[in-house]
Formats: sequence, C-alpha cells, structure tokens
Amino acid sequence: MIFDIRNETLPREELAELQLHRLRATVLRCYETVTFYREAMDELEVKPHHIQSLADVKLLPFTKKEQLRDNYPYGMFAVPSHHVVRLHASSGTSGKPVVVGHTRRDLVNWGEMGARCLAAAGLAPGDRLHNAYGYGLFTGGLGLHGAGEALGLTVIPMSGGQTQKQVMLLADLAPTAMSCTPSYALNIVEEAEKLGVDLRKLPLKVGIFGAEPWTEEMRYELESRMGIDALDIYGLTELMGPSVGIECLEGKKGLHIWEDHFLVECVDIDTGEPLPPGEKGEVVITSLTREAFPMLRFRTRDIAVLEPAPCKCGRTHVRMSRITGRTDDMLIIRGVNVFPTQVEAILMRTETLSPFYQLEVFREGHLDSLRVNVEASPPLYAKGQDYMDRVAAKVKKDIKDFIGISCEVKIHPTGAVERSMGKAVRVVDHRNEKK
Ligand SMILES: [Zn+2]
Repeated sequence: MIFDIRNETLPREELAELQLHRLRATVLRCYETVTFYREAMDELEVKPHHIQSLADVKLLPFTKKEQLRDNYPYGMFAVPSHHVVRLHASSGTSGKPVVVGHTRRDLVNWGEMGARCLAAAGLAPGDRLHNAYGYGLFTGGLGLHGAGEALGLTVIPMSGGQTQKQVMLLADLAPTAMSCTPSYALNIVEEAEKLGVDLRKLPLKVGIFGAEPWTEEMRYELESRMGIDALDIYGLTELMGPSVGIECLEGKKGLHIWEDHFLVECVDIDTGEPLPPGEKGEVVITSLTREAFPMLRFRTRDIAVLEPAPCKCGRTHVRMSRITGRTDDMLIIRGVNVFPTQVEAILMRTETLSPFYQLEVFREGHLDSLRVNVEASPPLYAKGQDYMDRVAAKVKKDIKDFIGISCEVKIHPTGAVERSMGKAVRVVDHRNEKK
C-alpha cells in the first residue's frame, strides 16, 4: 500500500519543481536566522538568490557534524524556543552530542514519513508493531512510535533491553511487525531459540531494521531465522531520525528517500564534488521542510550509491543502496580501507559461524593489526579445536582474498562476543590506548 499516493508517485518534473521551491525557502530561512549558515555562505560569497536551479545546491557550503557540535546546544536552531516542542540528541560517543529540535509541524511531517515507510513495508491498520528501539534522546524509539501511530497501527512501546521479556511479548501479544537495530534483532532471535520459542511460527511477518549498517547476508540470516521479510530503514538524528527512507517490500532493493522532504546528493568523499548517479560516494542531504533544525548539505558520512531508475512499486522517489559503510567506521589497516560490513559479509557466508562478531585493532610498533573475533555455532564448537582452526584459516584466507588484508581470526565459544542492546559495537580500537 502507498500511504501518500499523490506525493510518493509525483512525476519527476513536478517533484523537482517542488524541491526547488522548498530549497529556496530553506536557504533563505537558514541565511536569515542561523548565524552559522550566514557566515558560511558569506565566506563563499553565496546569497540565497543565487539558488536558481536544483544544481545550484552545489554552491552552498557543506555542514559537518563537528560544526553542529561547535554550536552546541542551540546555535543551529532556526525558530524561537517557544516553537520547539521536543528535543532529541545524537549518541555523542565522542564528546558532546548534537541536540536537535522539532516543532509541532516537524513532528507531524516525521510521523507522515514514518507512516509512508511502514506502509511501504506492507503494514496497515490492524497490524501490531513491537518497537524494540530504545526510547529516549535517541530518535529510534519515539521515531518508529510516531510512525506506527500515524499509520494507525497498534504500537507496543517495548524499547530496548529485557530481552527475555521481548520474547515473551512477541509470543503473547502476537505483533505482525517489529523494529530495532539488526544486531539487537539477532540477540532476540538467539534468546528466543534458547527459550524454545520459534519466531517463525508467530504471526510476525516483517522486521524494520536500521540505525547501523548491515549486509544482505545479515538480511538472509534474520529472514530465515525469524520467518519474516527484513527491511532496511534509514535516518539520522541530525536530519530528523528514522524514516528519511526505507526499502519497499516489492523491490527490496534500495531505500526510497522521501525527496519532497529531503534533497539527496552523492559526493566524492575526498573532494566533495558531486558524483553521477550509480557511483559510490558519501551521501549529502539538505532538508526541505524542517522548521526547527533545517540543514544545508549535511555530510552524513554514510557511503552509498543513488539509483534514479523507476521502481516496480510505483514510487518515483530515488533509491539509495544499503549503506556500505560509514566514514567514521572505516578502518585503515596498513594502508587498506576496511569497513566492518565487508568482514560481516564474509563471516555470514561461513555457515558454521554464529553471526556475532567484533573487530579489534592493535598497534605493535608502527604496524597495525586486526583481530576478528567471531563465535562458533554450537555444532562447530562440538567438532573440536582442530576443526575450528581449519575454519579460522579459511575465513582468514577469504578476508585476504576479498578485502586484501592479513588478520588474525579467533573463533570463540557461543556467548563470548558481547551482545547488542541497540547499536552494536563492531570495532574496538586499541591503537590510541596508553600502554
Ligand atoms: Zn519501490
């Protein structure tokens, strides 16, 4: 089902006209109300009236996450405080978080985009959504909650944690959909299997998974163990939260980005130059309707490819490939760029391994080294150390062949790798630790 048939299937020319109109209004408002944007545009000698076409977006300065932090907490707000009805914040793992405000209208738009996403996942009133994203400053919980209510679903506001209880309520309340990070979904699957609950036999039919990069191999793992369709949802706290885009159930290939609300570009990671469609680069997003916290050309640090070709679902909005990595997560090991998702794909193709993994990076002298920690499935563990050593050697060879780096592969017994309660910690970098 298409929630907003008119806007989701708008002919491309009309969509472009709407985008240009909204872009010009956003740029003008940013220039007039946010000192940071005015100074950044003045420095490049760009004035709001210079934006005459969508291509002119490239005249505008980029906005980077560090700059949002520099304006902590309220420096980027474009409305007076009495118009702000809610605050959220990014996780702020490195220093101060980014605080983002929402007006009443922002929340309505967010809910409607969320409703589009859940409808694209095949849901409709009568469905129940078990929402296991964390509630709080993190946008996942309240974001999916608002989405479900806007579509008219029954929302079960479970939040993250209490994994055994999650399993009990999945069985007892009979939700038809669940939402959380893919790594937490795996944790729930494992707990269910331990408790003897077969998720495949429950009414659960679709999983909405996001907030961390994941792979097709992970999709297969979750779909086969849960008996569902697993869909990727996209969003960032800085731009709103989840529901910036989602994969449609019909296509399951690329996430439709709601282009009447966001202008999306793909740029070269190093030079910032716009790339032609089909080329992989960093996703850059400009908000077109956000009131409290408008954003010009935000460097998302997410790496993907844009696919403008029409989709069989009938939606006209561009599709973005899965995020293949985040520039923040990119490891450079002896000159080779490595993303955790590349390692994930190899581990998940190795049938005897469990899908729980974590990478560790060390520095010995001037050389960096990588250790891949992964778990054996119980049948593999039962086969003994020699057999596991052979599997480890095979994985090590695959990583060398496909990614081009030498590493140590350590296979642990079941339960040894820390379980995710939300966003998984994929990399532990020991390089800057004091000895
Ligand atoms: Zn589609």
